[in-house]
Amino acid sequence: MSLADQPRFSLAYLPTPLQEAPRLRQALGGDRACPRILIKRDDLTGLAFGGNKARKLEFLVGEALDLGATVLVTSGAVQSNHARMTAAAARVAGMKAALVLSSTGKSRPLQGNLLLDYLLDAEVHIIDATTDQKMSVDEAQTIKIAEVTATLKTRGERPYLIPVGGSNAVGVFGYVAGTLELLTQLSAAGESPTRLYYANGSRGTQGGLVLAAKMFNASYRPYGISVSGGAQEKLQRVLQIGNEAAERLGLPTRLISDDFTSDEAYIGPGYGISTPACLEAIRLLARCEGLFLDPVYTGKAMSGLIDHVRRGFLDPSKSVVFLHTGGIPALFAYVEDLEA
Ligand SMILES: *Cc1c(COP(=O)(O)O)cnc(C)c1O
Repeated sequence: MSLADQPRFSLAYLPTPLQEAPRLRQALGGDRACPRILIKRDDLTGLAFGGNKARKLEFLVGEALDLGATVLVTSGAVQSNHARMTAAAARVAGMKAALVLSSTGKSRPLQGNLLLDYLLDAEVHIIDATTDQKMSVDEAQTIKIAEVTATLKTRGERPYLIPVGGSNAVGVFGYVAGTLELLTQLSAAGESPTRLYYANGSRGTQGGLVLAAKMFNASYRPYGISVSGGAQEKLQRVLQIGNEAAERLGLPTRLISDDFTSDEAYIGPGYGISTPACLEAIRLLARCEGLFLDPVYTGKAMSGLIDHVRRGFLDPSKSVVFLHTGGIPALFAYVEDLEA
């Protein structure tokens, strides 16, 4: 079964633009210090403020509809972009959504993604993710999801379960398709970038980007800037879902560990905690390009790209791509970090 044969439900406005960022390049030292930076605007996928999850959800919702599902069930952090976009996708497809969201308790402003989840009238279940709990957040989430799913079934609903971040083999299809779109744009523009920078979270995006770059012999190496830890476990996971996706698409390509680059140098104190370099990147992009990054994913990914330019790691006569994966609503939940 090729990509074109997969069940797919249209949710995103495609293709998203590929834009050069000349003022950012200027601010980073101009053509003697900084490569040309092309930004792939997947923050403009359109669904409920956009982001990368729209590409995965096209295939996940396609499968859900094929199976006759009535409710999408997923989980994530309280400011999860994936949860917000799943809730919106469910509405567009005539379904409902149930979300299991973990929160560290203290501050949970009704802002950003959480506010949108409620406006979309998703069924929101919040679990306590403070560290002094008896079980891990993952365990608590798994138990809650099983409970929510069972309750939905007793109400006569047909739940369709989507893992954190939409990162399974079906979700991987999203960035196989996304890569084909990007390669078409690069070829039309006569561009051969050396790297593609992006924010690495639950790794479904990475699976698709790396599989397709290998399959289609892209000029660039996908360069993941991680925003959370657990690299070893996540590498095993992306190998598994990437290769399962390849198999399901009937591709001859198989992935090995060496195909993946996941740079952990820009995580800072942890997932969802902004760093000074991340906040600098957010301000720089706004000032130079009138464009917004987010404090959890794209700000950190861009802080990695900026640092690489400043350290002279990148050939200024070449170009790189920055994949803007969205996340904008989270900005409004990080007012305290940003007002300083
Ligand atoms: C989910 C997300 C990512 C990471 O994608 P994964 O497939 O989970 O690795 C990056 N940026 C934003 C804004 C996201 O919401």
